[in-house]
Parts: sequence; structure tokens; C-alpha cells
Amino acid sequence: EETDLVELAQQAGDAFRAGHPDHPLTLTTGPDRVRLRLDPLRVRQVLDNLLTNAAVHTPAGTKVHVEVCVGSGMAEVRVTDSGPGIPVDDQERVFDRFYRVDKARSRDRGGSGLGLAVAHSLLRAHGGTLTLTSAPGATTFTVRLPLDDAPE
Ligand code: ATP
Ligand code: MG
Repeated sequence: EETDLVELAQQAGDAFRAGHPDHPLTLTTGPDRVRLRLDPLRVRQVLDNLLTNAAVHTPAGTKVHVEVCVGSGMAEVRVTDSGPGIPVDDQERVFDRFYRVDKARSRDRGGSGLGLAVAHSLLRAHGGTLTLTSAPGATTFTVRLPLDDAPE
């Protein structure tokens, strides 16, 4: 099954705007279409996880930006928020199961600490990656997926 990553990101962005009106979202795309041979529901689940995190782990008013681009055989979706960020010492561990940076606060928000672990293993199982850069005011999760460049 073939999926258009641009369309998927737009749908995820629309759902996010409806669900999180206190977190203004912008979206930019390079190409018009980015075709991938992946299950759209799974990729959408990954994007929803990242977008939900950008809302529930940041204060109201935090800006969220989604960018879709392509390069050297890979497609990329970057989800950036302007929130407080993730401390350097925690940045690798957020991909571990059940890991939450601020356990008391995250529990208040109903988080189990599984979202990023699930997204990470799902992407790896499809030949992709999930990486993170974070500093106060700018946290970016980057999804990379192999491009489907050989039509049959
Ligand atoms: P779940 O996704 O299972 O409902 P969760 O959101 O707590 O729960 P993860 O999505 O795996 O779990 O995220 C792990 C932790 O990483 C979060 O608890 C939070 O502390 C931190 N985190 C994730 N995204 C962000 C972000 N955009 N800004 C700040 N902290 C974040
Ligand atoms: Mg989460």
C-alpha cells in the first residue's frame, strides 16, 4: 500500500488544530507528494504521538511547526515546538518504555511514557529512524522514512 506523507501530515495537522486550539500549528511542505510504501495508519499514529506530546508537555500558547521534506532516498517529517524542551540528560531516555522526564507532572497528564518508545520501534521496523534535538524554546523530533522511488 502506498501512502502520501504530505497528505498524511496535513490530516494530522488538521486533527491537531481541532483538538489543541491553544497550540497554534503551522505546516510547510517541500514537494507536493511524498510516496511511501507504508501503512498510513501506523505513520499517522507516529505523527499523532509527536504532535500530542508537543501539546501536552508544553504550556498553552506554545507554537508547533510541522515540516515535510525529502532528501537522499529518505523522507523527513520534523515536528518542532517552542516549549521548554527536554533536558540533555533525559534526551536519550525518552525513547525508553515508561520513561517520563517529570514523572509527577506527566502522570497528571495521563501519560504512560510509551508513546515515543512505540513510535521509535515502529519506525525502525520500517527502515526509518526517530531522532530528537532539544533546547529551551526549540524541540524537534525528526521522523525519517525510506522513499518509495521504484514504481512497479
Ligand atoms: P504516552 O505518550 O504514553 O501517553 P508520554 O507522553 O508521557 O505518555 P512519551 O510520548 O514516550 O510518553 O514521552 C516521554 C516523555 O518525554 C514525556 O513524559 C515527556 O516528559 C517528554 N516529552 C516528550 N515530548 C516532549 C516535548 N515535545 N516537550 C517536552 N517534553 C517532552
Ligand atoms: Mg506521549
